[in-house]
Amino acid sequence: MIVPDLSPEIRELKARARRFVEEELYPAEQRIVERGDVDEDEVEALREKARAEGFSNYNLPSEHGGSDLPMLAQVAIEEEAGRATNGLGFIVAERGPREILELATPDQLERFIGPLLRHETYEAWAITEPDAAGSDVAALEATAERDGDDWLLNGDKWYVTGGQHASFFIVLAVAEGEQTLFFVEKDALGLEIVRTPRFMHDPYIDRHLELRLTDCRVPDANRVPSGGNEGAKRWFVVERLMIAARCCGAADRLLGLCRSWALEREAFGKPIAEFQGVAFPLADSLTELAAARLLTYHAAHAFDAEPDDKIVHGKVAMAKLYASEMAGRVADRAVQVFGGRGYMTEHPAERHFRELRVDRIWEGTSEIQRVIVAGGLLKRGLEPYVGWPA
Ligand SMILES: Cc1cc2nc3c(=O)[nH]c(=O)nc-3n(C[C@H](O)[C@H](O)[C@H](O)COP(=O)(O)OP(=O)(O)OC[C@H]3O[C@@H](n4cnc5c(N)ncnc54)[C@H](O)[C@@H]3O)c2cc1C
Repeated sequence: MIVPDLSPEIRELKARARRFVEEELYPAEQRIVERGDVDEDEVEALREKARAEGFSNYNLPSEHGGSDLPMLAQVAIEEEAGRATNGLGFIVAERGPREILELATPDQLERFIGPLLRHETYEAWAITEPDAAGSDVAALEATAERDGDDWLLNGDKWYVTGGQHASFFIVLAVAEGEQTLFFVEKDALGLEIVRTPRFMHDPYIDRHLELRLTDCRVPDANRVPSGGNEGAKRWFVVERLMIAARCCGAADRLLGLCRSWALEREAFGKPIAEFQGVAFPLADSLTELAAARLLTYHAAHAFDAEPDDKIVHGKVAMAKLYASEMAGRVADRAVQVFGGRGYMTEHPAERHFRELRVDRIWEGTSEIQRVIVAGGLLKRGLEPYVGWPA
C-alpha cells in the first residue's frame, strides 16, 4: 500500500486535534504577539488541558499507560500541531519518551521515566556539540571516564531543546570507546548551563540551552546499559517524520489563508486571485503540499508496516527533506501574497516564514537527508523506495 486510508478513529483524533489547535492555540498565539513573549504558566495550563483530552503519551505502549497509536495516527495529530506557531503545537503533540523507555533499566524507568510519564518532570536531549558532532554524530567528543562506581563526563552540548524546564538531560558521550547515553540530573555536580541564546523562531515555547560538563559525576546506575547510538538514531528518525508532518500542517494553514485572501483582496478593480502572478504560486503550493503529504503518510505507513529499518530511514529522510523545503517555499509565497500584512509579526505568514526555517536544519539538515537518500539509492536501487508494493 502506498498510502492507506485513515481509519474513522484516526480521522476523529485528527479532527479533535485541529479543534484544539484552532480553539486553544490560535488565541494563545495572539496573546504571545501582544505580550512579546511566551507565558510559561499559560503554556502549562494549555498542556494540562491537552492532556485531559488525551493528547499525551499516545505513542507509548499500553503497559506504560499509553495508547500505542500507530505512526499513521501520530503523524495525523502532528500534522495538526504544525498549524500553530511559537512551538505551541507541541502542546497537542506531546509524545512520550518511547526511544529511551525501550533502552532504560527497570531502575531508570522508575527514577527517570515514571515521573516523566506522570508529567512531574521534563527531559531534554543533549547530543549536538559546538566543535565536532553536529551533522557528523560519529565525531562526538564528549567523554565519560570510569571513576569507581561513577562516571566523570566532560564536554560541551549545544541546542538542548526544552532544557529550561528539564529536570534531567539525556547526554550522549563516548564511554570505553562506545557512544553511550547517560541520565544527567540538572543539579549534578559539574553540570553548568552556560548560555540560553535567542533563536530566529523566538518567542518560542522551548529554549535551546548550552551545557558544559566538567568532571560531571554520574553514578553508573544512570548509564543506559547499551544501544546509546542506536537509541539516538531511532529518536532522530521519529523526530524527522514528525517534522515532515508539522511542515504539511503549516503549509495547509498558510495556503488556506492565502486562498481566502486572494479571493477577498482587490487591486486594480478585481480580486488579486484573478492575477496569474498571484494564482500560479498558489497552484504550485497546492501541488507541492499534496506531494509532501503523500510522502509523509507513505513514510508513516512504512514505519508501521515495513520490516527493514533502513528502508524506513530512507523514506523518512525523503519526507523530511521534501516537506521542510516545500513548507519554506509555501511560507515565502504566502508572505508575498499578503503583501505588507504578511510581514507583520501579528500575521501567521510572518511567523511561519521565520519558524519553518529550522525544519531544514534540526534533526539532520536537508543536506544530510540527501546523503541518506542518495546512500540508499546507490546501495539498494530504486525499487525499495519507489517500487510498486506487491
Ligand atoms: C533550534 C534548534 C534546536 C535543536 N535542538 C537540539 C536538541 O534538542 N538536541 C540536540 O542534540 N541537538 C539539537 N539541535 C542541533 C541540530 O540537530 C543540529 O544543528 C543539526 O544537526 C546540524 O548540525 P550543526 O548545526 O552542527 O551543523 P553542521 O553539521 O556544522 O553543518 C553545517 C553545514 O554543513 C552541511 N554539511 C555537513 N555535513 C555535510 C555533508 N556530509 N554533506 C553536505 N553538507 C554537509 C550542513 O548541511 C550545514 O549546511 C538543534 C538545533 C537547532 C537550530
